[in-house]
Amino acid sequence: TLSTRLTESLKNLRGKGKLSAADVDGTIREIRRALLDADVSLNVVKKFTGDVRERALSDEVNKALNPAQQVVQIVNDELVAILGGSQRRLEFAKKPPTVIMLAGLQGAGKTTLAGKLAKYLAKDKHTPLLVACDLQRPNAVQQLEVVAGNAGVAVYSPEPGNGVGDPVQVAKDSIKFATDKQYDVVIIDTAGRLGVDAELMKQAADIRTATSPDEVLFVIDAMIGQDAVSTAQAFQDGVDFTGVVLTKLDGDARGGAALSVVSETGRPIMFASTGETLDDFEPFYPDRMASRILDLGDILTLIEQAQEAFDEEEAAQLQEKFATDSFTLEDFLKQMQQLKNMGSMKKMLSMLPGAGAMKEQLENFDEQELVRTEAIIQSMTKAERQNTKLLNGSRRLRIAKGSGMTVTDVNALVNRFEQAAKMMKTVAKGGVPQMPGMGPM
Ligand code: GDP
Ligand code: MG
Repeated sequence: TLSTRLTESLKNLRGKGKLSAADVDGTIREIRRALLDADVSLNVVKKFTGDVRERALSDEVNKALNPAQQVVQIVNDELVAILGGSQRRLEFAKKPPTVIMLAGLQGAGKTTLAGKLAKYLAKDKHTPLLVACDLQRPNAVQQLEVVAGNAGVAVYSPEPGNGVGDPVQVAKDSIKFATDKQYDVVIIDTAGRLGVDAELMKQAADIRTATSPDEVLFVIDAMIGQDAVSTAQAFQDGVDFTGVVLTKLDGDARGGAALSVVSETGRPIMFASTGETLDDFEPFYPDRMASRILDLGDILTLIEQAQEAFDEEEAAQLQEKFATDSFTLEDFLKQMQQLKNMGSMKKMLSMLPGAGAMKEQLENFDEQELVRTEAIIQSMTKAERQNTKLLNGSRRLRIAKGSGMTVTDVNALVNRFEQAAKMMKTVAKGGVPQMPGMGPM
């Protein structure tokens, strides 16, 4: 699979000092093959590997503390960049109703998505109206009515007198209806065929023209494989769309389709659909998708280490501080805060298989502890933060009161800091650290 191959090729780089061009090229070759296997289009693979190679051979890597980890970081960064960088949110109309049109092949998950999106928006204090414009498939209207019922939102469907058989008319009428009844978002479900089809494309384009949607979302099944690019391009030419929704990410879809569609159409993926029930739905996060493509705790651990590893200069500064006893409580706090950033990884990890060990490690990181530490250190004067020897009894009492903690808490923190500083000093000078209470070794 993509992830195991990437894991393998990146593993080979682990532990290397300086990377040679041959090391980098070997890894790039593996990455290229892995991406092609995952149905990423050739164009995208070329661009991706080209960018990674260039950065992997640059100073950025040469100067890094651990070049192999830096390459892992670059692979991750570039994946995130291709996937659209940051997440894009829905555009709402200045004057309601906001019109969102769904387009895509039959079975892509449009009707299901209509319900998910409506529920998601309703939770956010919107009043969505679902509009049944798939008049092609038998029971399609009924399916949307069931979905709307489950989502607890209103549905507008064709009845005798409001444009039976003409989806363009239904779409147009629905907007007038929404305006009258003060629904603030109109979600138009449209028909799809099994393959790209000229008549159908024209129908979608006509609905678009008739309703001037604020968003046209192209819905695509993540399992579609190599057809992703041609299908997306056909819809871009035929209807055009403002964003993409990737469905069926709960299956074992490889990430390839996502990569190709974004890269080839220039449209961002906005939502991810991850199951058959209405709550299996979330905004699309490029960084999480990149992690999903890279997969597995092993790679994540490497990335984590790369992120943790400060650049060489910062590390040297820190070492100097340890050695010369100028490591202060402020430095200590900064270190803890860096750990806190890792907390956001907890969430990301929850969607990854095989990341158990790391998850546990992160679970054990106590955010409350950090909050308490911050409060205590912030209640100290600058001089006290620089030199804990100043902290006599009355100062400790004042700090405890100021931070809402007890003197015992303050004492515990100061002890912990002093022990850490002492231990690090020994390490920095090249010695073996003494564990508290164990006597000299
Ligand atoms: P449409 O033809 O584009 O309207 O597609 P539907 O919404 O009718 O969905 C087609 C099938 O895919 C249905 O059986 C849905 O339950 C299923 N489906 C839709 N989205 C997802 C998803 O994210 N995950 C899974 N596993 N199934 C989905
Ligand atoms: Mg449908």
